[in-house]
Amino acid sequence: MHELSIAQSLVDVSCEEAKRVGARRVQRVYCRVGVLRQIEPDILRDAFGIVGEGTLCDGAELNVQVAPLVAHCAVCDRQFVIGDDDWICPHCGNVGGLCNGGDELEITSLDVEDDA
Ligand SMILES: [Zn+2]
Repeated sequence: MHELSIAQSLVDVSCEEAKRVGARRVQRVYCRVGVLRQIEPDILRDAFGIVGEGTLCDGAELNVQVAPLVAHCAVCDRQFVIGDDDWICPHCGNVGGLCNGGDELEITSLDVEDDA
């Protein structure tokens, strides 16, 4: 179950960041995961809960946003989302090139609770 290893890195990064800002605990983590990682958001949330136990992320809520594949069209210099393996630029009809890899894994935002 590779959601576990992803959950682990989310917990690691979140805890580090929480420590850096002197927070008492993490309340909510917003992350973006590329569609090619084939993550099941529910499973990732469960895994996050398990891995986060006993850490600053204990009881934190995980908000998962699945990021689609994005292509870039060299002809009209625009970006567009690739759906159903359709690499044709919706603006000019040319074939676009891959812009993001679909394998992102990033924390976009973190809600923490501090001592105050
Ligand atoms: Zn185009």
